[in-house]
Amino acid sequence: MASDKYETVIGLEVHVQLQTESKLFCSSSTQFGAEPNTQTTEVSFGLPGSLPVLNEKALEYGIQIALGINCKIAERLKFDRKHYFYPDLPKAYQISQFDMPLSYEGYLDVTTKDNDSIRVRINRAHLEEDAGKLDHESHSDGSLVDYNRAGIPLLEIVTEPDLKTPEQAYAYLTLLKSTIKYIGVSDCSMEQGSLRCDANISIRPKGQKELGTKTEIKNLNSFKAVARSLQYEIDRQTQVVESGDRVVQETRLWNDAKQKTVTMRSKEEAHDYRFFPEPDLVPFTISREKVEELKKLLPELPQAREHRFVKEFQLSEYDAQVLVSDKKTADYYEVCVNSGADPKKASNWLTTELLGILNARKESLENCKVTPESLSLLLQMMDKQVINGKIAKEILPEMVETGNSPEDIVKDRGMEQVSDTGLLEELAKNIINANPKSVEDFKLGKKNAISFLVGQMMKETKGKANPAIVNQLLQKTLSEM
Ligand code: ADP
Ligand code: MG
Repeated sequence: MASDKYETVIGLEVHVQLQTESKLFCSSSTQFGAEPNTQTTEVSFGLPGSLPVLNEKALEYGIQIALGINCKIAERLKFDRKHYFYPDLPKAYQISQFDMPLSYEGYLDVTTKDNDSIRVRINRAHLEEDAGKLDHESHSDGSLVDYNRAGIPLLEIVTEPDLKTPEQAYAYLTLLKSTIKYIGVSDCSMEQGSLRCDANISIRPKGQKELGTKTEIKNLNSFKAVARSLQYEIDRQTQVVESGDRVVQETRLWNDAKQKTVTMRSKEEAHDYRFFPEPDLVPFTISREKVEELKKLLPELPQAREHRFVKEFQLSEYDAQVLVSDKKTADYYEVCVNSGADPKKASNWLTTELLGILNARKESLENCKVTPESLSLLLQMMDKQVINGKIAKEILPEMVETGNSPEDIVKDRGMEQVSDTGLLEELAKNIINANPKSVEDFKLGKKNAISFLVGQMMKETKGKANPAIVNQLLQKTLSEM
């Protein structure tokens, strides 16, 4: 595919459910999983005479996320009615924000797995209410609708068309999600629908200034699906243009089973939303004191924490990013390092070894029997040459299983590293005598002859010999022969 002729332009629209106890404009519960249509009021239905009242918690949560993604907070807030006719919307309009959004002009700096860094500008983040949920599956002769979700507060976060690759989109979503989770105002679960993403994408010849015609992809149920659907669209749009056709502006649906996008509706069917100010909610001012107060309540966010980890612990950017993307992992890591572990080792052992074992057991760090202090102790025992790395790897699964301290396990199983030079010297002599062929190979300059002998030493000591001393001893004895 001649895709090097074109460049890709991507913009993402993310909807995040704010974890308030009641809805955006009424007292209905927002609890997930309740019986359909048991969590509604006359306000969610927009019945005559009902009046919406803004949920202050939702406003505060929205401001906190907006601050977390470096947005400016509006001085004045206004809500608008956005009209469309669809059974998921009982009022036939959604209360949203049109020309005076809650916040604007933010950004997130993201780095991909391949160390590709980019600043993604955020155009706006505004408050709106969610719609109900249609169920086309469980009834054969029609669709069902559940209005429990209608009126749940959402923050819609819209980027500028700054992203250039599916990997950048993936990295942006990952950082956005972990930022919001650190703030603790949404669980950001794509499976439960508390985070939803629509992806806009176009291509244009390299060097062209104006944007190409975009398509919008909906029905994305994971960050991986976002990245895959974008790649699919890049290939599809490139093919369309290469064959002399034009890309049609349209909304497309991602089919995860078939791993492709299909047309949902074209621009001709696009909505005219007839926005106008919501007359039942008067515009109001957000005081700067309130914004400052909410800012003070923010925890250290992943981006800042990543920078601190790089500086304080000399970690690579990628390692730091992996650690901070989950708050519990990062907290665990800090306790481990603060109780004496080497930062680089702690990072490797936590993310590769410990999380590897836990993943295989389908467990999480949260209920893990290995405390960060005890992992730190294991690593320090390696540093002090009480055990070597091989033995440490044997011990860790037992620590996960039993919660026992590494010291106890080593004592009980007699696993202390053998560093007694006299003893090892004796053993080295025996092994050399028993393997004349390897000695010959060594004299002939064959480098791996020595690793064979090291292996024999480790075998004899059941893996407990200090590998550095063994190496040194063998080198010395052999060169003296
Ligand atoms: P719409 O009115 O169709 O919703 P918006 O201007 O609101 O379009 O933009 C929606 C999203 O699409 C934003 O994230 C924006 O950055 C992105 N976007 C706009 N134009 C393009 C384009 N030509 N190619 C890719 N993304 C685009
Ligand atoms: Mg839009």
